[in-house]
Amino acid sequence: MIGILGGTFNPVHYGHLRSALEVKEIFELTELRLVLSAQPPHRDQPTASTENRLKMLTLAIDEQPDLKIDDRELNRSGPSYMVDTLKSIRDEIDTQPLLLFIGTDAFNQLTHWHQWQALFDYAHIVVLTRPNYTPQSLSVFFNKHLAKEHTELAQNSAGKLYFQSVRQLDISATAIRNMIAEHKNPGFLLPDKVLTYIRQQQLYLR
Ligand code: ATP
Repeated sequence: MIGILGGTFNPVHYGHLRSALEVKEIFELTELRLVLSAQPPHRDQPTASTENRLKMLTLAIDEQPDLKIDDRELNRSGPSYMVDTLKSIRDEIDTQPLLLFIGTDAFNQLTHWHQWQALFDYAHIVVLTRPNYTPQSLSVFFNKHLAKEHTELAQNSAGKLYFQSVRQLDISATAIRNMIAEHKNPGFLLPDKVLTYIRQQQLYLR
């Protein structure tokens, strides 16, 4: 089984990295890929460039062989729709189960994503707990796709919705950007190497 965690990673932090590592182990994934969203379609364009966000991601997982970066969205023009990313990964992995991990905040916005129902044609969606968010109540569509046991994910290539709790780290990229803009120290919320890079490049200062 292959897993992906998409994000703007503006910047990447321990909430992303810890969740990624945990799900790699819980689901015994052969690979967990962090997919950098080049041009997120559902929000303002990130304040840091794609190149800077990719560099920070690279620094963050430098010594972590369990995590990989997937930069395919950087090679497409236009908005980075997740459905296109899943299609393109699906073409490469044949019928292997593919798990798309999203936090509860992202799940609550899922029905606004481009062709959101088609996501289930290509992958399972696994919703991860995140502090301060509770999942939206499940529509008939979501209930139809709901898996009760995580073994159901391994038995199908795509199409299931599953909820997984992970260690709760109340960290967000927004909070980190705000701390930097206010000249506070966000140390221990993200890898030191990433923070050093942010300071060198003078990112997120107002
Ligand atoms: P921002 O504050 O800029 O919105 P973010 O911290 O939410 O950023 P994203 O890059 O947007 O980070 O998140 C990528 C994915 O990781 C999303 O699915 C999001 O829900 C999930 N995620 C982010 N932070 C956490 C966390 N602390 N715990 C669990 N999941 C998280």
